[in-house]
Formats: sequence, structure tokens, C-alpha cells
Amino acid sequence: MSDIEKKFVLPKRVEYIQLALEYKPLNLGQGFPDYPPPKYVTDALSQVASGDNYMVHQYTRGFGHPRLITALAKLYSKLIGRNINPQTEIITTLGAYEALFSTITGHVDEGDEVIIIEPFFDCYEPMVRYAGGIPRFIPLRMKNVSDRLPSSADWVLDKDELEGLFNSKTKAIILNTPNNPLGKVFTEAELTQIADLCKKWNVLCISDEVYEWIVYKPYKHIRIATLPGMWDRTITIGSAGKTFSVTGWKLGWAYGPANLLVNLQMIHQNSVYTGVTPIQEATAIAFETELKRLNDDECYFYSLARELEPKRDYMAKFLKDAGMKPIIPEGGYFMIADWSPLESKVDLQSENDKYRDYRFTKWMIKKVGLQGIPPTAFYSVEHKPLAENLVRYCFIKKDENLKQVADLLEKWK
Ligand code: PMP
Ligand code: GLN
Repeated sequence: MSDIEKKFVLPKRVEYIQLALEYKPLNLGQGFPDYPPPKYVTDALSQVASGDNYMVHQYTRGFGHPRLITALAKLYSKLIGRNINPQTEIITTLGAYEALFSTITGHVDEGDEVIIIEPFFDCYEPMVRYAGGIPRFIPLRMKNVSDRLPSSADWVLDKDELEGLFNSKTKAIILNTPNNPLGKVFTEAELTQIADLCKKWNVLCISDEVYEWIVYKPYKHIRIATLPGMWDRTITIGSAGKTFSVTGWKLGWAYGPANLLVNLQMIHQNSVYTGVTPIQEATAIAFETELKRLNDDECYFYSLARELEPKRDYMAKFLKDAGMKPIIPEGGYFMIADWSPLESKVDLQSENDKYRDYRFTKWMIKKVGLQGIPPTAFYSVEHKPLAENLVRYCFIKKDENLKQVADLLEKWK
């Protein structure tokens, strides 16, 4: 085997996508809606594609299509409470993935430590390692609750453990709120704790906020860049895929102070150079529409969470009825559940994966016809045992498809 083959191990996700093709289970695995995006969003794309402005089919400005960065600057200037310069303080990227990649590889050098909160979106660790950095992991730990269903708010960081990770080698911390896969929405007190440590140790905060609009009542999304002294040390990342339910558009962005964005611009310039023009133009139109109705209930930024909340509650109910212990998410469109009460009904020995959640989810795909994601994928090797009894399901799915899953589980249990 050559060195290059040894270095890159195929992610497990690829295996699950392959299993889905082979067994055709009801798919609550990968996070994407199985119903159409808002019509005004797809109309914007048709209009852009067939309109008179044929220049939208050519290269655009490398660091972001002018119409889109203008719209993003308007929106985030309001949300952050400062004048964001569209030319220097925003960059658009190929999905939030590229924003993460450009941020991490642009800022992390050989030997730098990067704090990652578990469970974490699975690409953070390989990106940090690829940059030569050393990931330092800290898991959210679930508080004991006995009188109600647990929620993602019951998962908290240990203050001393967090403090103990910061040192003079710490370059950055990666925050993800609302979190994938747990759905935790960090509170102001939790963010303040992180912010204080970032300031004390001169650490960069990489804030992945792709689910910023998917937050359930009464919880509130707080942008860490708005906390005192944090703008200067925060790069915030967003995604059109999550904002407008168009994950296939693969358009993301990062915003933050110009001196921190320069590093992202250099990586982007020399790897990707320029984003997809018509997608950026259509997304600009979608933002312009929302900017006009930001104070209106009909604004998609608010209606999306309203539309998802009953789906979340329905999923919690049918998972509970099936015998699992769901953890109610405060945000995002994933739900983590403890499947271990069903263990006696599952033949875990029929699969030979190391971790029990892999064996459970594979057995479910093959024998019951339901696909979920094994959450140990979102943990470091040392902490994977914390997630072996869990499974992640996605609920941004048609009601009738969620019902099919409910019926399937009811028949099986
Ligand atoms: N961060 C998180 C937490 C995500 O769940 C996703 C979804 N894939 C991304 C980043 C990447 O977003 P995109 O599809 O825009 O690349
Ligand atoms: N964010 C989505 C998920 O977590 C898709 C990411 C992926 O497929 N790598 O399922």
C-alpha cells in the first residue's frame, strides 16, 4: 500500500450511502429534506438560469458574488449589530464544508491544538489533522433526568474540564450551535464561558452556525460573535443548504474580521478560486426576499422551525412508543435516541463492526428497513464508548414518510 492510501481512510458515511442503495431502507440517515424547497427559492434559480443576464453563467468575483455578499452583509450587519464590510469581512464558499476547510487549514499550523466539542460534525477532526493540528476533545455529558424525556439542553460541558484544555498551544475552538447531531443550542452563559476562555488564552473561535434558523421555542440562537470582545476572534460559518433547504446547492459562507478572513481567502483562491455564479445569484435573490420580511412571521427563517417542530415531536413520540429513549433537540433537524432498551430484539452478533451503534444501525437497515446514523462517528476514539447506545435520525422528511417509519417500528416492536 502506498503512503497516500494509508493516510486517507474512507469515511464510514460512504459505506452507509452504499447500504442505502443496496437495501433501500426508509432513509432517516443523511440530513436533507425529502420534499421541495420553498417555491420562491427554486423560482429564483429558474429565473436566473433563463433570464437575460447571461453573465451569471460566467466566473464571478472569487471571494463572493457581489449581489450575494451585499445581501449577506445587510443581514449579518443587523444580526451582529455592526457594519460588516461585504468586500473584506465575508467570503462565500462551496458549502459550509469549504468554509470550514478554508478556516481550519488557513489558521491551524503544525502542532497547534484545536478544541473540539463532542459530539461534533464529523469532518472537523480530519480537517484539523490534515492541517497538522492536534484535536483536543471534550464531550458534552448528559445530566441525569428521571421525571421527563431528556432534552439536548441536559447535555453540558464540565467547566473545569473545558478550562483544563486551554493552554498556550491552543489555536482554536470549534463551536457548533445548534449542534449536529445532538441539536443542542448553547445558552448565553455557556457561550460566555467559552468566550472568556478564548479571550484569556487568545484563541480563535470557529463557530459553525449552519442551523442558525432552525431553533425551537423557547430556545434562542445566540451568535458568539456578538458577545463582548468576540467579533475580533470569531469566524462564523453559514450554509444556504440549511438556510433555504437546498443542500444540493452547496453554497456556504464565512464572516468575521478582515485580518482573520485573509487566511481563508488565500486557501480559497488557490484551491477553489470562485463559487458557482448562478447559485450565488439565486441565493442573493432569496436573501433579498427574506430581508424585506424579517419582521414578519412568514419569513422562511422562522416558518421553517415552525414547520419542523411537529415533525420533531412526532418522531420523539414514535421512537418512545417503539421503546427507545429520544433526546429532544432544541435546534437542528436531527434527533439522538438511546436504542439500548431494544437490545434483546436485535442480533448484534450478526455484524462485525467494533462499535455497537454500527452493528445496531446496520442490522436495522438489513432486517427492519430503517436507516439511521451511528453517533460514534461524531466522537473521538477515546470517547466513542459514550455513544454506542445511541442512534441519529433526521426528521426533515415528509409527514407520510415519518408515518411509514412509525408504522414500521410499531410492527417490529
Ligand atoms: N456543518 C454542519 C454542522 C453540518 O451539519 C453541515 C451539513 N452538511 C455542514 C457544516 C456542511 O454544510 P454544507 O452542506 O453547506 O457544506
Ligand atoms: N449535514 C448532513 C448530515 O450530517 C450531511 C453531511 C454529510 O453527508 N457528510 O447528515
